[in-house]
Amino acid sequence: MDDATVHNYHPLPVVIESAEGAWVTDTAGRRYLDLLAGYSALNFGHRHPRLIAAAERQLGRVTLTSRAFQHDLFAPFCEQLADLCGMEAVLPMNTGAEAVETAIKTARRWAYRVKGVPADTAKIVAARGNFHGRTTTIVGFSDDEEARDGFGPFTPGFELVPYGDVEALSAAVDDRTAAVLLEPIQGEAGVIVPPPGYLAEARRITEERGVLLIADEIQSGLGRTGRTFACEHEGVVPDAYILGKALGGGVLPISAVVSSRAVMDVFTPGSHGSTFGGNPLACAVALEVIALLRTGAYQRRAAELGARLHRELAELADGDWPVTAVRGRGLWAGVDVSPAVGTGREICERLMARGVLAKDTHGSTIRVAPPLVISEEDLSWALAQLRGVLG
Ligand SMILES: *Cc1c(COP(=O)(O)O)cnc(C)c1O
Repeated sequence: MDDATVHNYHPLPVVIESAEGAWVTDTAGRRYLDLLAGYSALNFGHRHPRLIAAAERQLGRVTLTSRAFQHDLFAPFCEQLADLCGMEAVLPMNTGAEAVETAIKTARRWAYRVKGVPADTAKIVAARGNFHGRTTTIVGFSDDEEARDGFGPFTPGFELVPYGDVEALSAAVDDRTAAVLLEPIQGEAGVIVPPPGYLAEARRITEERGVLLIADEIQSGLGRTGRTFACEHEGVVPDAYILGKALGGGVLPISAVVSSRAVMDVFTPGSHGSTFGGNPLACAVALEVIALLRTGAYQRRAAELGARLHRELAELADGDWPVTAVRGRGLWAGVDVSPAVGTGREICERLMARGVLAKDTHGSTIRVAPPLVISEEDLSWALAQLRGVLG
């Protein structure tokens, strides 16, 4: 990369010029199937016609008002999203990290004002291997050294427990605990699905002990796992959802914390805000995203294609292939590749040469998370390319 670029990423050497559905085209006119889908921001594919039409309609009306004034899509957006979540109140932000920060502020205020935790002593319990974003507070409770190194001093008030360990979670929750913050499936950690019953136990523990359960569904939510929310697979309803990524339909950033009135009412005018949060253009696209999700078609598709994906990947894991483990749910998988065939990065470079764009994580995991609009034929072709680079 040249020049004026800050090297905080190590992108594959492909320069994308246009895209549609599950496919992108580079500046040389080569086409690639997108198996990353913008880390699930592109669940509905590139330039979904209904989302682009919603954005274009809104460009001709009003794009930004700030929250100092009201706009006509704000209340409908909040109402529709609350309804989709089975919740009561929505606080929109822009990026995922901002929504996580908002959830942290929510939990702390709730602890002081509702639960009665002594001032400035509230604790939030999170999981090892978490990924909740890149702000200084959030990387402060990450255990990924690369994400933390050189960015301290960090915000106190967080405790990490091993992901999937019910006893450790129970032991960490005390009188000062405001919230347990979890990804129902850990995405960046390598698509880690917790042991069956973990989320349900986390729900039981938090409910019994008067602690908020906050589900970061920024990557797992909005159709990816075959349900609207990954928590649904265990019949769990958290106290708050954190949403982002696909909420903006791959068109623009919009995120939100969605919870009950009682929890969200800890905010009062002046206590929190965002210049762009809940802007008319973002609300217009997000309303269309919600309408797409309401059809249930995307969740169904993720479940159906996901069944096929996991059936085929299981054959790789069980056979003589250099694959040491496969995890995931719905149209979302982490494939651990034996170092003998190369690093995750090298595998992704070989996939790229065959017209498939994927992204490695943690050295040797390849993630498979195409847009939910991918055709079965294309998915099958992508898996054939994966076998091709492994075999
Ligand atoms: C991507 C992600 C975030 C951060 O979202 P940004 O929009 O990049 O700030 C937070 N939590 C999870 C689970 C994510 O996958």
